Amino acid sequence: MAEKKTVGFHTLGCKVNQSETEAMTALFLDKGYQLGDFEEFCDVYVINTCTVTHAGDRKSRQMIRRAKHLNPEAIVVVTGCYAQTSPEAVAAIEDVDIILGTNKRHQIVEEVEQFSGVRKLLVDEKDTLTDFEEISMDRVIQKARAYLKVQEGCEQFCTYCIIPYARGPLRSRSMENTLQEARKLEKAGFREIILTGIHLGAYGKPGEAEAAMGKVQEVTLADLCEMLLNETSFERIRLSSIEPTEVDDHLLRLFAENRRMCRHLHLPLQAGDDSVLEAMHRPYNTEQYRQEMARIRAAVPGIALSTDLMVGFPGETDEQFENSLRFCDEIGFSSMHLFKYSPREGTPAATYPDQVRNEVKDIRSKRMQEMAEKNMLRYMEEHLGQTVEVLIEEQRADGIWLGHTDNYLHVAIDGPCRKNTMVQVQLDKIDGKLIKGKFIE
Ligand code: SF4
Repeated sequence: MAEKKTVGFHTLGCKVNQSETEAMTALFLDKGYQLGDFEEFCDVYVINTCTVTHAGDRKSRQMIRRAKHLNPEAIVVVTGCYAQTSPEAVAAIEDVDIILGTNKRHQIVEEVEQFSGVRKLLVDEKDTLTDFEEISMDRVIQKARAYLKVQEGCEQFCTYCIIPYARGPLRSRSMENTLQEARKLEKAGFREIILTGIHLGAYGKPGEAEAAMGKVQEVTLADLCEMLLNETSFERIRLSSIEPTEVDDHLLRLFAENRRMCRHLHLPLQAGDDSVLEAMHRPYNTEQYRQEMARIRAAVPGIALSTDLMVGFPGETDEQFENSLRFCDEIGFSSMHLFKYSPREGTPAATYPDQVRNEVKDIRSKRMQEMAEKNMLRYMEEHLGQTVEVLIEEQRADGIWLGHTDNYLHVAIDGPCRKNTMVQVQLDKIDGKLIKGKFIE
């Protein structure tokens, strides 16, 4: 019997990319491939790239070179946001065989199998990306939690962000197709699904061009969640990240009334100073954000609120940074993802004259990090002594099991656990970013 061909993936960037890698993995497995380790010999290497920061671009290029080094005969496919926004830069790297844009992933296996040694560049212009790419991902159970991508594209055009150029206009997976996919994931044994999208809160919203032609919004993210709560039996439904202005009353009611909705919202703030928010073209000011957080916390006690924050946006003064620092401390996020601004070619902010020096960004980032860690610690301490439910996701080499609570505490358990089961744990002690827990049943 012929040996199965192997495919290895390397994924950079966000949860949407992770979800898309899972979907592509399923396509390869369906065609009889075996999943290999990217760091070892494979017949096909797929690099799912990111372009949100310069580090993402650089890492993407490194991994492309690494793949051909591991097997000079391998077929190297590059997809994702860097491939979509900079196909020429990717094509300039000698080792790339196939470059796939962000709406061509469903063709990946066919393109690999038909590859004749002549490089293929399959990247559509952003404006032609109009359909939601409904690729399935029921075959892969690498994790206890499955990402289900339900939305693509963003039209907010925050002034620092390259994503709308990489991902094109708003479009959504239909409710029917989402349910079909969710049922496959349920049947495959997942206990938790994480709904993802580039602009998840805009689920169901027509793009500007469609709206101009009279298309109206018929369903919302809350409708989608309610349908999944009613039609599936997942023990947990989690949202990856939504804009702070998009938590409508319907969605909040679902969180408040149904414990299967994970009590965790990631609501990107980006800056805690009104002038900076305006320059970033974010759709709220600090007072609106503050009120939103109070409204959510009042409705859903114990909810984890996390955020993304950027330091060193062009023109950010010391005073504006101090405002940000104070504001974030006041909100007291359970965790913060911090970014140092880096200019992305093609975005308005990249052309702003008053770029902040790297040394200043480093200092601000460090101070923000210290405050973020203090609040994370406080959030974890609030839970010590409590008995919580943890979904077991993996076992470390030292035998300790790891998993998350619904409100996103990362728990380490020394006990008789099994992957992909829910266990009751008493939270005991903080160990870095983990909380150690005693297994109860
Ligand atoms: S909302 Fe803003 S930051 Fe988020 S993807 Fe869209 S443009 Fe980028």
